[in-house]
Amino acid sequence: MRRMLVAGNWKMNGSLASIEALIEGMKAEMPAVSDNCGVAVCPPALYLSRVKELVAGSKIQVGTQNIGDQDSGAYTGELAGSMIAEMGCQYTLVGHSERRSLYGESDELVAKRFAAARRHNLTPVLCIGELLEERESGNTESVVSRQLEAVISLEGIDALADCVVAYEPVWAIGTGKTASPEQAQEVHAFIRNKIRQKNSELADNLIIQYGGSVNAGNAAELFAMEDIDGGLIGGASLKAEDFMAICKAGK
Ligand code: PEP
Repeated sequence: MRRMLVAGNWKMNGSLASIEALIEGMKAEMPAVSDNCGVAVCPPALYLSRVKELVAGSKIQVGTQNIGDQDSGAYTGELAGSMIAEMGCQYTLVGHSERRSLYGESDELVAKRFAAARRHNLTPVLCIGELLEERESGNTESVVSRQLEAVISLEGIDALADCVVAYEPVWAIGTGKTASPEQAQEVHAFIRNKIRQKNSELADNLIIQYGGSVNAGNAAELFAMEDIDGGLIGGASLKAEDFMAICKAGK
């Protein structure tokens, strides 16, 4: 059985006081989460060491929201993979739509960040997804294919064995407009089948998360779909009660 992963992307939110309350609230509910479902949080990088202290002794894993494509040097504002690994992180998001759209990250740069994660034995969570106008013009499949191909052409198909894919339709992120379970499943199945054509075992084991306005009320029906293996959660990951209700929907 494929594993599931529910990860919280805190974005640029929180304070030392709020993250303490959030992690304590999460820890209390962790025993109720299925053993088959991993739970991770991606805090703002400045809070990583405090978050690592707070999650100690629990099964909550930690990731960053991005990773530098280079390994060290004059790259102001970037985080090296070695630093992320040294802090005890397991995951890093790459290619989140806010990085792509607000900070101009290209498919090629995202692929280099993905490669950096692998060099440092981190699990990249590769975020892909279409804009509303791309969906409406019937281009969802070509957009997610292009975003995946950028990584495959740089790193090879086998690199996807060490990663998680997060399908996040951009029109559903932070908007309260969730893709229906059927809409999401259709794209998840497309992604898995595309990868299956190159490596079927890898495709069967690949965790493909859904992200986009997942909340405590809609997580169970999304996660019940055959090709949806958990979620990448933004807004609802900032409240322990909401986030843990989503984690508990993981099977
Ligand atoms: C996200 O930031 O990846 C996300 C899915 O946000 P939200 O859950 O708030 O839509």
